[in-house]
Amino acid sequence: MLSHMLRRLNVPHRLYDADVFGSFHVHGRQYRSRGLLGVARFLGPRQFAWFLRLGYLMFFRPLSAQERQLPFDLWLERHINVEHNPQLVAFFASISRFALSLELSQVSTAEVVRTTKNMFRFGAPAIVEGGCGAITHQLEKIIGTYNGEIMLSSEVLGIEQEEGHATGVLVKNKTTGEELLLRAPLVVSDIGPRATNALLQQRRIKQSDVLKQKYAEDHSALARSADDVQEAVGLKVHILSDVSLIPHKGIMYCLDTKRIAGMVQPTNSDPSLAPAGKHLLISHQVIQSNNVEEERALALADLRSMFGETFDQHCQILTMGTYRGEWPVNRVVQGEDVQSRLQVGGLYLVGDAVKPSGYLMVEGVAQSVNNFLDLLDDLDREQVLARKADHRFRRNVMSPPSRLNALRWLWKAPGNAGKP
Ligand SMILES: Cc1cc2nc3c(=O)[nH]c(=O)nc-3n(C[C@H](O)[C@H](O)[C@H](O)COP(=O)(O)OP(=O)(O)OC[C@H]3O[C@@H](n4cnc5c(N)ncnc54)[C@H](O)[C@@H]3O)c2cc1C
Repeated sequence: MLSHMLRRLNVPHRLYDADVFGSFHVHGRQYRSRGLLGVARFLGPRQFAWFLRLGYLMFFRPLSAQERQLPFDLWLERHINVEHNPQLVAFFASISRFALSLELSQVSTAEVVRTTKNMFRFGAPAIVEGGCGAITHQLEKIIGTYNGEIMLSSEVLGIEQEEGHATGVLVKNKTTGEELLLRAPLVVSDIGPRATNALLQQRRIKQSDVLKQKYAEDHSALARSADDVQEAVGLKVHILSDVSLIPHKGIMYCLDTKRIAGMVQPTNSDPSLAPAGKHLLISHQVIQSNNVEEERALALADLRSMFGETFDQHCQILTMGTYRGEWPVNRVVQGEDVQSRLQVGGLYLVGDAVKPSGYLMVEGVAQSVNNFLDLLDDLDREQVLARKADHRFRRNVMSPPSRLNALRWLWKAPGNAGKP
């Protein structure tokens, strides 16, 4: 989705496809799985038979309305004996934690089915050459060619409105302290509903306030607040290693750890992401409590248990970052996303609080922008029809590629790097 959008915008970029569906750290070692069928190696014949049965139930049989709403952990409990299939449950849990930053109890069965179907049809995630900074740089250049201006080190203090319609934003230059009122008939925000609504009241949301509220004992009071959104929270560790720890270009899902759900070694695709001869590794886990020190300690314990002495001898921790509150992994958790259109006319949301169902992370961000563009075209179309003018509109939202793509996943995870 994102790469399709970048191609349409003529943004130069290079993707490196994964060469595996993933590897799975379980039973104290790493099992490499080129396609879906490869999971049989660590699941064993009995759990693999249940894996196939779940695949049938998820993708070949319509889900009832009640099943669709069910949290995925409860859906699993209905169809398999979870105590007798620990690796199978851990398989789903670690993928959900890594990809969505959610426990299985926090995501509906419908959302799991939709995101998985989309992954089968669109292809496996890829690594972009130069990291996300490279894409940002190219986008900056393109905006420059259209005489657009990017105001760095600037903060929006408030969104101006008149008679229920957005009329512009008040911006403060953080270096000079100068304030500037930018008038505009259309305001698009990617900072989520909580912070955007606050700006409408000329208020700013502070990280400390959000965390204080989130982890307050009386959580139920917050749940009733109109401003409350459930964001996806995570802890990432960036590691520099003298030796390679993951022997492929995909994700290593961790099934036998306490916290770390998965890891990648992007230097397998793009060696320039680390000094020559070294590797960059990134682990991800869901933060499960307010005790950040304990979460960090558990991450380190997981790394030691997976890599043993190699970790102490060859690895250096670069950063250990928590992403929560106003600076989360996703501003709204998968499946709970809000509408783009707000109550104030001319004010719209895009980004990872507006992900359409089934589209996660930057794929969801890209599709939210496509949705927004179609919404604008619809408004234009109404005006064009009113004027009886002739104008063709091209839809921006991209529909998923063929379902047959899913078949290829059985043996090999297909990618998008070769697409023109
Ligand atoms: C550590 C980390 C790793 C991730 N890794 C991946 C990954 O590997 N793959 C993937 O697909 N997704 C990943 N994600 C998720 C992805 O980054 C987000 O989904 C995406 O960045 C959301 O884009 P956005 O435009 O909606 O919001 P953001 O990227 O959050 O952009 C919002 C911007 O608004 C700015 N802002 C906030 N308030 C104001 C204000 N008052 N005035 C002016 N500016 C303001 C912020 O500084 C920010 O730059 C990761 C997220 C994190 C945190």
